[in-house]
Amino acid sequence: MNPLVYHFEAAHGLGKELLGGKGAGLSEMMHLGLPVPNGFIISTPACLDFLTHKTLPVQLWDEVLTHIGWLEQTSKKVFGGLQNPLLVSVRSGAKFSMPGMMDTLLNLGLNDQTTQALADETNNPRFAWDSYRRFIALYGDVVQGIPKHRFDHLMDRLKEERQASNDLDLNAFDLEQLTRRFKSLYLEQGDQFPEDPMVQLENAVRAVFASWNNRRAVTYRQLNSIPDNLGTAVTVQEMVFGNLGQTSGTGVGFTRDPNTGENKIFGEFLFQAQGEDVVAGIRTPEPLEALERRLPDVHSQLVETVRLLERHYQDMQDFEFTVEQGKLFLLQTRGAKRTSLAAAKVAIDLALEGLISRQQAIERFTPSMLEQVLHPRLISHHQATLLTKGLPASPGAVSGAVVFSSEAALEEAKYKKVLLVTTETSPEDIAGMNAAVGILTARGGMTSHAAVVARGMGKPAVVGAETMRVNPLEGWLQVGDTRVLAGEILTLDGASGQVFLGEVAVEASQASPELEQLLLWADAQRRLKIRANADTPKDATRARQFGAEGIGLCRTEHMFFGDQRLPWVRQMIMTQDIKKEQEALSHLLEMQRNDFQGIFLAMDDLPVTVRLLDPPLHEFLPVLETLAVEVALQQSKNEAPSQNQDVLARVRQLHETNPMMGLRGVRLLLTRPAILEMQVRAIAEAACDLQKKGKHPRPEIMIPLVGLTSELSQTRALIKKVLEQVFDEQKIELDIPIGTMIEIPRACLIADQLATQADFFSFGTNDLTQMTLGFSRDDAQGKFLSRYLEMGVLEDDPFATLDTAGVGQLVEQATQAGLKARADLKIGVCGEHGGDPASINYFHQLGLDYVSCSPFRIPIARLSAAHAALKK
Ligand code: PEP
Ligand code: MG
Repeated sequence: MNPLVYHFEAAHGLGKELLGGKGAGLSEMMHLGLPVPNGFIISTPACLDFLTHKTLPVQLWDEVLTHIGWLEQTSKKVFGGLQNPLLVSVRSGAKFSMPGMMDTLLNLGLNDQTTQALADETNNPRFAWDSYRRFIALYGDVVQGIPKHRFDHLMDRLKEERQASNDLDLNAFDLEQLTRRFKSLYLEQGDQFPEDPMVQLENAVRAVFASWNNRRAVTYRQLNSIPDNLGTAVTVQEMVFGNLGQTSGTGVGFTRDPNTGENKIFGEFLFQAQGEDVVAGIRTPEPLEALERRLPDVHSQLVETVRLLERHYQDMQDFEFTVEQGKLFLLQTRGAKRTSLAAAKVAIDLALEGLISRQQAIERFTPSMLEQVLHPRLISHHQATLLTKGLPASPGAVSGAVVFSSEAALEEAKYKKVLLVTTETSPEDIAGMNAAVGILTARGGMTSHAAVVARGMGKPAVVGAETMRVNPLEGWLQVGDTRVLAGEILTLDGASGQVFLGEVAVEASQASPELEQLLLWADAQRRLKIRANADTPKDATRARQFGAEGIGLCRTEHMFFGDQRLPWVRQMIMTQDIKKEQEALSHLLEMQRNDFQGIFLAMDDLPVTVRLLDPPLHEFLPVLETLAVEVALQQSKNEAPSQNQDVLARVRQLHETNPMMGLRGVRLLLTRPAILEMQVRAIAEAACDLQKKGKHPRPEIMIPLVGLTSELSQTRALIKKVLEQVFDEQKIELDIPIGTMIEIPRACLIADQLATQADFFSFGTNDLTQMTLGFSRDDAQGKFLSRYLEMGVLEDDPFATLDTAGVGQLVEQATQAGLKARADLKIGVCGEHGGDPASINYFHQLGLDYVSCSPFRIPIARLSAAHAALKK
């Protein structure tokens, strides 16, 4: 039978799955010869066994007893001993870091007698009672379920009685008193505090195992896609004491700045404190420089040690340490959570420092991190009223209505954007923080719970806004004379720490030099080309700035809106008089030529796929119902028959019950060839004109909604005829490829035939998804799709992430058939899926040539394509 418990040395190399991240880190540090208090790890299978059978496995307890004996020997202390008592910490730690979500106990092994022994031995009764009162409160909370705030309340009351501003002002006598009060509270809850250290240990292990399934841990796993079946390991470790006098303390830190990635050790330290004091905001911690001033040798040893850890793990670390009477101990190291901006800088710097390769640097920067970096920021806040300023804990600017509890955040986020405002957050708030668009706290530092969690979520946060008072019960916050009530709007800027009254305008952020660098490295790895969906010269210019390598979809119908154009478009569609049709078309020709010139110029020397008119015609016509009411009103007033009546008759004639499957795309182009002729002429004339001016326009003409080979061949013939006419007139010849969209399931099935008539395919995965699943693009979301996602009928929204099992099969089949029929066929995607990382990965695997997406998503597509190429 495999052992369930391993001491740190024996655990070396067994991996996080078995040992949890904390256990694996401690074992690794011990192996590296770093100063780590000794201990042992109860592995995750023991937890899983406990969770299944609700009792500790028999084998486990024998092994724990053996290891306690071993720890007594190596530490030369006795568990429960009246001399030299051994105290231990019992800490949770799963494969994936879940900061603060599960439970941990410190100072286990203390009872009335061992506390006295500790006081005598250290000659420091204050320290002994401080440790004991901490243990009872932790044990009461974690094992007995007595809410922590009840202990905190007793502490606050004692401080008031003693007129103490913080815990350091309490002396040994006070802390002994506090311990007695804690014990009474414990007894009030129906039980005697267990004095037997073995009973304490057994109950602690059970409680830590059980904390795998507490509400906040379950929520955290859901939010971070961590499987529920991993279980937690438990680390039992000899205590070292940060609360043992003036030269002791406890701290946490990062090897680089977790906000910016700057290569500078960053951390916080609290003298005379233990465990969670730093993150819990008991006293305001000092920066690591304070440690440097007061204990310079310890500081330099710390710096050296964590640098070594960073080199060893080839990644930025976050670490916890304790200093006991001037001696340094490392208690944890792990890959640090960081903002996405910091992730980019750290990845680049580690590659430049030679610790990792460029490929690794790219792999460490995920598309979702990039999405977070492209977070909005404030445009200009000079007019805005500054309410308060705190620490810039997590970047991004956001406005929202103030709520004062997680419950309110969850409820009100259903209707509006909310900012969660609290004195400080705790792991209980994880769901509320997730529901809020931003977080503001009055207390806490850069490593406080709110700061760490918000950064992990990529949510703007300002913490430690100390001038702010929060009263959640009455529903207000106050800074000076200004009071803000629940529901009022604030804007916070997580990059500067500023908080403004009311709403302040925000803009998308600009790319940083680090991002540019990483994207350039990504470009060198990817095979897929990235094009943009853009319909105006402005969008085309922006897309090119973002790195687009052409336009994959220019939707010409988007050019038909606007006051100057719509009347001509309506005339073109509705008239049955050839002259009037010609008049409208000649106006539109002029406009379209200009449009195309601007776009070709912005994309000079890059391909621009112009799609001929596609949308259902009702999008351009007056609304039937409105028009009908107008005419009925006129008739009821006996007004003379108006022009409106004719229009109504024509709109009725053109009306379709199911316009998405109606007269659109190639069907319109073939039945109303004058529209096609106008558009092709505008494209060709614009290109010829630019070519003559020494530019390099590269238009491609694309036919939408093709389902029949004959549709394609006949349309292609019409297009070619117009092109030849224009080339003749212009005395110039250009190579303008003609291709088809593949967006009807039938087109996928006859792709081999279509390929003989097309220079390229572009998958319109929006329509292809609509028609393959039979889900309306326009209506599904509100009617049933969101319910389907909630119910787990669907895992992803198929309009956002390609349904690879269904729609993907069609794409794959059409790609293979198309290429078989025509080896030089170019194939791309221009549906929304062209900007979705998971779908891009799929398109890469299929061997497509390019994806096309909206200009703002170009950087994400570039990075996703590189990730796809790097995937083994
Ligand atoms: C598509 O159907 O995927 C497509 C790109 O065309 P549209 O969204 O304009 O219908
Ligand atoms: Mg379409």
